[in-house]
Amino acid sequence: MTLYTLSRQDFFDYLRCPRIVAFRTQGIRVREFSPRSPMSIIKSIEKGKIGELTTKVGLQELTKDRPKDDKAILRSIRAELASLSRRSFRTPQEELEGVIRRSLEGTKRIADQIREIYGVVDVVGRGEVKSPFLPHMILPDFVVMTSRRKTLSLIEVKNTEKANVRGDEFQAAFYNAISKEPSAVIVKERKERGRTEIAPQTCMRVDPETLLVYPILGEFKVVKNALTIEKNLVEGIWEAKQLGMIRKAPMASGSEYCSRCPYREHCNRDKWDELEPAKPLALIAAKGAIETGSNLDLEFLKRYSSSMVYQQSVLSALDRKARIAELRFILKTRSFAEASYTNREDRGESLYWQTRDQEKIGLVALALGLDEEHARDLVSTTIAVDRKRIFREMAGEFQKWRPLLRKDYKAMVDRVASYGLRYCTFPSHSEDLINRSWRKWD
Ligand code: SF4
Repeated sequence: MTLYTLSRQDFFDYLRCPRIVAFRTQGIRVREFSPRSPMSIIKSIEKGKIGELTTKVGLQELTKDRPKDDKAILRSIRAELASLSRRSFRTPQEELEGVIRRSLEGTKRIADQIREIYGVVDVVGRGEVKSPFLPHMILPDFVVMTSRRKTLSLIEVKNTEKANVRGDEFQAAFYNAISKEPSAVIVKERKERGRTEIAPQTCMRVDPETLLVYPILGEFKVVKNALTIEKNLVEGIWEAKQLGMIRKAPMASGSEYCSRCPYREHCNRDKWDELEPAKPLALIAAKGAIETGSNLDLEFLKRYSSSMVYQQSVLSALDRKARIAELRFILKTRSFAEASYTNREDRGESLYWQTRDQEKIGLVALALGLDEEHARDLVSTTIAVDRKRIFREMAGEFQKWRPLLRKDYKAMVDRVASYGLRYCTFPSHSEDLINRSWRKWD
């Protein structure tokens, strides 16, 4: 449980009873679900990954007008599986094969029905949906574009032997709710016109609709309803959480759920408290960064450009001659192009990290779709957010957290700016999304 965000679990707990959020924040742990054996946990992770691959490859292929045959689809799934770390897969290959075949059979059963509703499903890639208002970030399995819709939709894959109807639908309704808030999808790894694109995109319009796909079961469910995330609800959860930080709990009238509540031994409903919740720390930091003149779009790109996804994407893009030619054009520097790209493969992957500033600027410009001036800003260190100024600017808001965090307040001051940058920055529109979120709190 984090003190900086509101998660799906926080909403789930609060809707059962606000006091549960406070108890969990206090660190009280109770056994709520029967534990699985370590072996079954490993298998469920493997099944999950296979389900994702089958959905990504199979659903996209099988909803086309002329899909490839089963053998070709299986080859693609196995190739993608082989590219994953072997540490994720400990089960013998024959057993994995059985799961792959069952998952593909199930995907074939649902592909026709999905095609009826959506047309051809194009898996755009992995995405993050961030809402600075809560703040929170969800990571649906896939972001898809379909031939019958003009907007992006989300897919969540559940490769289980039995559907957890209540839990899965709650997750989908939560995803839909996040998509309706001041939020945006950031698509990072994605294919466009058959080639891998590296520059992340902010998409402001997402259909608040999540497709739950169960490959092994051969079933799917379209969830259109969204959890209603109103200001009162968000403030209520933050109040319960902040009361939990000072070992208190909010009022709750009690319900029939009390008799089976796992926290009932810790609960004395006669003792309750109230407080005016402070705004989320990450949002305060992000707002402060804007007020002090930081460009949060560039901050996003700066963090992204040092991430593994980006590094791997750049390195793989460098192998393609077409991209190299493109880079030459962007830089308009013949000597650079000649010096950098002769025998690149021979010189190995570390070359990128040894390049001179000008080369780095060129790569960033190419990879992120920026002009050279912005790429230069990004590579330089002078655009980092000024934490001291942010804390001066937003002192009134930060001070409200002092009695909640007490001795941890100082440590938080060091950490919170990076949380703000993680949850409240986008490749574009950061300022707009943060300001809209801020207004919802006022
Ligand atoms: S016992 Fe009842 S009031 Fe107490 S936490 Fe559980 S559900 Fe809430």
